Amino acid sequence: MIPPLHFHNSATRQREPFVPIDPGHVRMYVCGPTVYDLAHLGNARPNVVFDVLARLLRRRYPRVTYARNITDLDDKIMARAAETGHSIAEITAGTTADFHADMASLNILPPDVEPRATDSIADMVTLIGRLVEGGHAYAADGHVLFSVASFPEYGRLSGRDPDELLAGARVDVAPYKRDPGDFVLWKPSTDAMPGWDSPWGRGRPGWHIECSAMSWRHLGEEFDIHGGGQDLIFPHHENELAQSRCAFPHSHFARMWLHNGMLLVNGEKMSKSLGNFLTVRDILRLGPWAGEAFRLVLLRTHYRAALDYSEERLHEAKAELDSFYALLARALPVPAADDDTVRDMVEWALEPLADDLNTPLAIARLQDLRTLENALSVGGSPTVVLDRAARGWKPHPGQAAAAMREVAEVLGILNSDAVAWRRGGEGNDAAIEAAIQARLAARARRDWAEADRIRDDLTAKGVVLEDTKNGTTWRRA
Ligand SMILES: [Zn+2]
Repeated sequence: MIPPLHFHNSATRQREPFVPIDPGHVRMYVCGPTVYDLAHLGNARPNVVFDVLARLLRRRYPRVTYARNITDLDDKIMARAAETGHSIAEITAGTTADFHADMASLNILPPDVEPRATDSIADMVTLIGRLVEGGHAYAADGHVLFSVASFPEYGRLSGRDPDELLAGARVDVAPYKRDPGDFVLWKPSTDAMPGWDSPWGRGRPGWHIECSAMSWRHLGEEFDIHGGGQDLIFPHHENELAQSRCAFPHSHFARMWLHNGMLLVNGEKMSKSLGNFLTVRDILRLGPWAGEAFRLVLLRTHYRAALDYSEERLHEAKAELDSFYALLARALPVPAADDDTVRDMVEWALEPLADDLNTPLAIARLQDLRTLENALSVGGSPTVVLDRAARGWKPHPGQAAAAMREVAEVLGILNSDAVAWRRGGEGNDAAIEAAIQARLAARARRDWAEADRIRDDLTAKGVVLEDTKNGTTWRRA
């Protein structure tokens, strides 16, 4: 019996059953990266968490649309362009390619749709127009602002009292705001800045309206799950919710809000000044095993809890993977399909994911399956494990290993070739492909030093790159 899904809904602060609006088509939106710099470890966490959730939903429902946007229009990108002398297009294209390569190295599947803010301006202008018409927004001094006083529920998602928000607002409030809490939907652009014509003059959107427009276009006025990091609840998600609810007054916008906890490094909030700021790329440099090990580090902590990363934990995760792969390399192959015992083992191990995505418990059950397979393969008694599972399985060698492979698929781990992993991990084709993509991205932004570094790194691992006019291929030396 497969248990029904339950998740902790940030909006109600309660664990609730997941009831899709349309069981034939589940829809989820997650805020994606602002593409001006390499992804850091904190950026990786929501992408891994919601990748597992998307994989779980796809097992349960016939159709899932997972939308994750690319914010390629933001003042941070403009600032980076001014700093480096590169064009905005070069920075967003290069950073997007880097992001895709890094996510692939963590075995994160691409979302079903990945809209870009710059392709969605017309939808943003439409939404802002609806808000102005409905009395929820006003134009002032070339800007269009959302009026927080027009939405009595403002502050409910983040649990903030609007009056306190006002009291805490900065003193240097822009003179064109009616209320210090009002936020920008549209702002004017100079000729040197990216800008689009609108009823309010040439300008560009604020960040919050980008997500309201992209979720509307790809998922509709109302959809099932909105995800992101806890740090986005206020103001970003509070503002998205206010915009979308006011633009479509009869809709609820997202039914459920899921937020992952913070990521710390060595017990402290990651920051450049503390010297503990790490990018995904910094981790990947440790070896071809590091992406998968980092993914396991992330999944060993429940997604809502704070997670403390350290290199020691990364090595512990690698040791764990080594032991999984050691077993898989010698396990007898058995076809998993049409095998009731294997199916039952898989459902048992995945059961914790139905309870607010309890990945640590699912991993513990994966370890139990490993213990069971080990016991079976040496002809020993699997009694201890069977007691814990309380299932009364009478498995034969190979079955628990087959179940492990399927469970790992949902968690997005153990996807490397077991034999190659044990040779030192250089057989991880996904990591090699990701490195090739990263090198192409470096070349595209004319970062020859980084491109050469990646090539040398691969050469040292016995991977030879061949650049042809049809792209880059590789072979082992
Ligand atoms: Zn967003």
